[in-house]
Amino acid sequence: MTGRCRSIAVLLHLSLKIMTVQTRATVERHPFRTHDRRLESIAERVLDRERLSFDDGVILYQSSDLLAVGWLANWVREQMHGNVAYFNVNRHINPTNVCVAACRLCAFGRKKGSDGSYTMALEQAWETAASGYTEAVTEFHIVGGLHPDLPFEYFLDLVAGLKERFPLVHIKAFTMVEVAFLAKRAKLSITETLVKMKAAGVDSLPGGGAEIFADRVRHIICDHKIDGKEWLETARIAHGLGLRSNATMLYGHIENDEDRVDHLLQLRALQDETGGFQTFIPLAFHPENTALGHLTTTTGMTDIRQIAVGRLLLDNFAHIKAYWQMMTPKIAQISLRFGGDDIDGTVVEEKIYHDAGATTPQGLQRRGLMRLITEAGREPVERDTLYRSVTRTEDTFTVAV
Ligand code: SF4
Repeated sequence: MTGRCRSIAVLLHLSLKIMTVQTRATVERHPFRTHDRRLESIAERVLDRERLSFDDGVILYQSSDLLAVGWLANWVREQMHGNVAYFNVNRHINPTNVCVAACRLCAFGRKKGSDGSYTMALEQAWETAASGYTEAVTEFHIVGGLHPDLPFEYFLDLVAGLKERFPLVHIKAFTMVEVAFLAKRAKLSITETLVKMKAAGVDSLPGGGAEIFADRVRHIICDHKIDGKEWLETARIAHGLGLRSNATMLYGHIENDEDRVDHLLQLRALQDETGGFQTFIPLAFHPENTALGHLTTTTGMTDIRQIAVGRLLLDNFAHIKAYWQMMTPKIAQISLRFGGDDIDGTVVEEKIYHDAGATTPQGLQRRGLMRLITEAGREPVERDTLYRSVTRTEDTFTVAV
């Protein structure tokens, strides 16, 4: 070891020691207390930065002491991100709601030619990208239905046209489900499909379509979609090609606690392998206008617990997102004290959850997101899709690289 390396090693060791002392100090200032004895050994392991097991995950879901679970998740979150909470300025674009899949969980997809179905012409999609918001967006989030006739080229042209018109904007497009569907339609492998998407301008992938990996549940809520293994394999290939993605979990329908833990641990295992996931986003099921309309909506406590358990089990995910459109701005704000470090973005126009009865606004202005974060006692940081901080002037932005 050279003298310089030795000094760096000593400095690193000292910083870790200081961090540990600060950690203990934090623990002393705000002691962990619980009436649930089962959480005590979990707490010890969390504070020692040990990985939690499947059984621990089930206990975290079943514990009656949600505040203690939240305390632990908040501790981990503050170790990772201090007091910062992230948001971005983005716009959603849903090019078509025509879909062959007919998932029971869905209120967005329509059969071709049925009432309410739509497909944007390319010009229309590009115009939509520029409309509805006055501040420069840093991200387009593009997802839609599995259209039986639209050729793969339509999607490549859509992305290439957006890149040409908005070269600074990051394009986060197509769920693993869409990628697999388009690959099949174009008679290409997943790798070939993703390579073409990347060449057209796709910068990363959103995390939708993961739902719940357990076959038993998947057969009921989204029988015609790719299964959990295919979803994970598509993500593995994308990450291998340098396309980062998010990961979601749809909860609050017919799944049980074991299904949720299984889902989270499968994501964790893939993240160990690829490191390609950026953010975990738990999505609350909205039953209205779906074939599962007899189910009830989730409650605030359930929503908050997903954030906390996600933060505790996914020790290799940098970010846990409390998606305000799904959870409501108020619950997303509280989640910033229960393990969440991100509340998503301005969105501008949201169709998928509003078709399923979401009562949240279509979009929030940048200042509204900052207010939510500030009033949660956190420091708002505008990020781009890759979590680089964004500095704005009046009509443009720069990204710290
Ligand atoms: S969830 Fe997606 S794949 Fe399933 S019906 Fe809706 S749009 Fe189609």
